[in-house]
Formats: sequence, C-alpha cells, structure tokens
Amino acid sequence: MVVGDIATGTEVLVIGGGPGGYVAAIRGGQLGLDVTLVEKDAYGGTCLNEGCIPSKALIHATGLADEVGDAEQMGIHADPAVDMKGLVGWKDGVVDQLTNGVEKLCKANGVNLISGRAEFVDENTARVAHGGEGQGSESIEFEHAIIATGSRPVQLPGLHFDGNRILDSTGALNLDEVPESMLVVGGGYIGMELSTVLAKLGCDVTVVEMLDDILPGYQDDVKRIIRNRAEEHGIDFHFGEAAQGWEEAGGEALVTTETEDGDTHEYTAEKVLVAVGRRAVTDTVNLDGIGLEPNEDGTIETDHQARTDVEHVFAVGDVAGEPMLAHKAYKEGHVAAEVIAGEPAALDYQAVPAAVFTDPEIGTVGMTEAEAEEAGFDPIVGEMPLRASGRALTLGADEGFVRIVADAETEFVLGAQIVAPEASELIAEVGLAIEMGAQLEDIAATIHTHPTLSEAVAEAAANARDMAVHTLNR
Ligand code: FAD
Ligand code: NAD
Repeated sequence: MVVGDIATGTEVLVIGGGPGGYVAAIRGGQLGLDVTLVEKDAYGGTCLNEGCIPSKALIHATGLADEVGDAEQMGIHADPAVDMKGLVGWKDGVVDQLTNGVEKLCKANGVNLISGRAEFVDENTARVAHGGEGQGSESIEFEHAIIATGSRPVQLPGLHFDGNRILDSTGALNLDEVPESMLVVGGGYIGMELSTVLAKLGCDVTVVEMLDDILPGYQDDVKRIIRNRAEEHGIDFHFGEAAQGWEEAGGEALVTTETEDGDTHEYTAEKVLVAVGRRAVTDTVNLDGIGLEPNEDGTIETDHQARTDVEHVFAVGDVAGEPMLAHKAYKEGHVAAEVIAGEPAALDYQAVPAAVFTDPEIGTVGMTEAEAEEAGFDPIVGEMPLRASGRALTLGADEGFVRIVADAETEFVLGAQIVAPEASELIAEVGLAIEMGAQLEDIAATIHTHPTLSEAVAEAAANARDMAVHTLNR
C-alpha cells in the first residue's frame, strides 16, 4: 500500500463501466455479491457515450430527414433542413439519459461506484487513481476481478487522430458543422454507418477501403444492396487502396493511398474519418501486476465462462476479443458475475446476432449456407424478397430479402441473413429460434401480424419447405 492510500475491500472488483462491466456489476449485485465498479471516464463506456447510442441517434434522425425529403413518389414534397446544433443536442440528451440510468441502476443494485483508473498491484490488490490533481488514490483488496476495459480505435501510423482534420468515430459523432467533404478510411461497420449519416447531411463522402468490397465477412448479395444504396446517396467508393498518410494542402487534408501493386492515389477532403478497426485496451490496468499477458492482438484469453488464465480473474466484452459488440459484452458480463456467484453459467456463441445500421439495415445470426456446409450440415435455404412483401412496399422499401438457413434433414434453423428496414429487430426472431432449437415449421406455422415485415421471416421459412404462398417456391 502506498502511504496516504485509503484501503477498502470488495468481493468483486469490476474495472470498466461499459456494457460488459456495468452488466457484470449489476448482475453481481442482484446475486448478493459485494461489488465495486471502477470507471475512469463515463458510465456506459464506448457504447453509450461514443458508440452504439450516439451513432444510432444520428442514423435515425438523418434517415428521417432523408426519407421525408425523398418522398415525392408518395406525394410528399418537403425539403427538410437539419440544424446540427439541434441534432447534436438531442443526441447528447439521449446519451445523458442513458448514462445517468446506468449509474442509478448500479446504485439501486448495491454496486459501490468509484471514479478513477484502476490498475493491478498484485493478485488481490488494485490501486485506483482518482482523476484530477490532489484527488489521491485508494487501494482495493478483492477476491475476484472482472476486467472490462473495452477497446479504442486503431490509429494508422501516417494518420494520427488530431481532433481537427483527422477524426476517429468520436470526432465524427460530435461535429458541430457538416463538413463540405469527408474522406472515410475503412468501409467496415463504422465507415458504412457514418458515411451514410454524413451523405444524408449533404456532405460529399468518399470511402477508401483496402479490400475489394465493403463490410468484410458479409455475403456478396448483402453487400451489393448496401453499396448500391450508398452510391445512390452520393457516396463514392475506391477499393483496393490502403491509406498511407496525409498532409495539409490549401486548407484541406491531402491523403495518399496505395494499392497492392504500389500505385498511389491522392484525395483531398475537409475532414478525414479513420475507421479501420478497434483494439482491446489492456495498457490501463497493469495486467502484469496480476500475472496476465495479452495476446498479440491485445485481447485477453478467456474460457467458456469468461475466466482468464488466472483463476479468480475474468475478462468480458471487447477486451476479451471479437465480435466487439455490446450485446456480446452484456452476455459475458452476465456469465462472469453468475460464475463468481457459484451459478452454473457458461457462454454459448452459436446465436450471437449482428446488425449493421446502414440503409437498409443488415441483420444476421448463426450460419450462412456456406458456413453450414463447412460445419458438415446439408443446408436448405429459404428466401423472401422484400419486393413481394406488402409491408415493405407500403414503406417504400423494396430492396432486400430475408434468407433462412436450416438443416435439410432435421429442419433445425441454423441461421439467417436479412437486408431490410428494421433488419436489426427482425433478426431477433431467428436468434430465438436457434436458441430454442426450433425447426422451420415453428417459424412458418406461427401466425405473424399482417401487414408486417416479420411476415417475410415466416415466408422465408415456408419457402425453404416449398410452402411459401407470397413468393414462388425454389
Ligand atoms: P467499453 O464500452 O469500451 O467500456 C470500457 C470502459 O472501461 C470505458 O468506459 C473505459 O473508460 C473504462 N476503462 C478502461 N480502462 C480502465 C481502467 N484501468 N480503470 C477504470 N476504467 C477503465 N456495438 C453494437 O453491438 N451495436 C452497435 O450498434 C454498435 N455501434 C458502435 C458504434 C461505434 C461508433 C463504436 C465505436 C462502437 C459500436 N459498437 C456497437 C461496439 C460497442 O460500443 C462495444 O462493443 C461495447 O461498448 C463494448 O463494451 P465493453 O464494456 O467491452 O467496453
Ligand atoms: P471494421 O473492422 O468493421 O472495418 C474496418 C475496415 O477498414 C475494414 O474493411 C478494413 O479492410 C479497412 N481498413 C483497414 N486498414 C485500412 C487502410 N489502411 N486503408 C483503408 N482501409 C483499411 O472496423 P470499424 O468500422 O472501425 O468498427 C470497429 C468495430 O466496432 C467493429 O468491428 C464492430 O465490432 C464495432 N461496431 C459495431 C457496430 C454495429 O454493431 N452496428 C457499429 C459500429 C462499430
């Protein structure tokens, strides 16, 4: 202990108050554990403060303006003006409401909250440095620790974030004016979601992606719809080029990219958003102090119960590796707390959904047809195109489809890929089906409300059984 330290003790020390950490803390509190949660910045972590929530607020609001401004075929003539101050203010209000809610929920569940940066001193001790000069520090003795320190954006060597020209996603979510032009480096989740927001705000957007298409890991026909729509919104794509560096030129950024063959290209833009992935954060906690070493990619190795190589230490969320998604962090937080409380909990990743909030949205869960084949199944596939969905047409949205993958022999549902408005919501039904070991018939025979997009999920399941009514069977 350092002289001047205050010493306290806790059964469970949770480091990091994002989705992984706060869920672990609340669940631990519910189970009667004595939990202390230490957060160095803001409760809610990346997700609530600079990730899922602010981005989805902007995606919704700009989508609304775009929809109203593009509804002439419905007889609606409007030219909505977006006031950035109002938009960002509304988004910040949503964030504040949720982060305050997290703090209140933690307290209501008996979680002891400490503001500061925690780092391990030895196997059962951490020191928390409180923010600000003269704020001091305290030592905390713990029986179990849950590391939930999250991730941060990857910085390219030639394109350091400066908060002015070269932005990370947080900078792009907090613009006070719409830039004339934006070069987006990386056509992954963040690149695609935020370039859509910017294009809908009237910004001239160019995306440079080092691979030969957007959204690595998604199927070609899924990507095609998203890319075409993005192009209709004016987004210009350049594939097979990796951003190398930049310089200031005539009041703009001049960015250089390079192809695999060594050809170089140059782009100028008022601002540059670099979204080339995120890396686990372990350099804030002194892992060495507890005898842990991160993997080469910065993540902490864990087992099926979120336990690290050190018996009484757990790691959850982004710091424990891909997929770096908030709902995966929630689940791991739950499981870690339950295991510590002696419950028979374990992780099962077979039905982790993913959603990309592009226009239209993508929702996926479980296996694709190719993945099912690779896993040794003989898959059958059913599809329902949105152009055959009454509800989709009433929404003016006929691009997209629902695809369901099942095992031919047993008809157990294995996965789904959905491209549609609200695909992020529609995918939940298939996630539940996989989780419950449902068969195609369970979905197809369930009465779905008419007219809804969810009917397309039932029709896709029926189509896999050659029993679809609203589309031709395969
Ligand atoms: P984080 O949310 O990163 O929280 C970690 C916390 O630990 C931080 O608050 C940090 O301050 C704190 N911390 C770190 N070190 C210490 C220390 N030593 N002491 C005390 N505190 C410490 N995911 C989705 O599922 N859906 C989405 O739509 C989505 N959209 C996203 C949009 C953007 C722009 C970004 C950037 C991410 C998005 N994500 C989305 C990913 C999601 O935000 C993360 O997967 C999620 O936040 C991970 O939760 P976590 O608890 O592991 O880490
Ligand atoms: P990403 O991994 O999704 O995409 C990064 C892209 O950058 C890739 O396509 C990659 O090929 C490209 N790239 C890498 N280096 C490059 C270079 N030098 N030049 C050009 N292109 C380059 O990463 P992201 O978009 O930064 O998002 C990070 C993570 O945040 C995601 O993987 C996801 O886990 C999470 N996230 C999730 C959501 C959601 O769930 N809807 C939304 C946003 C972010």
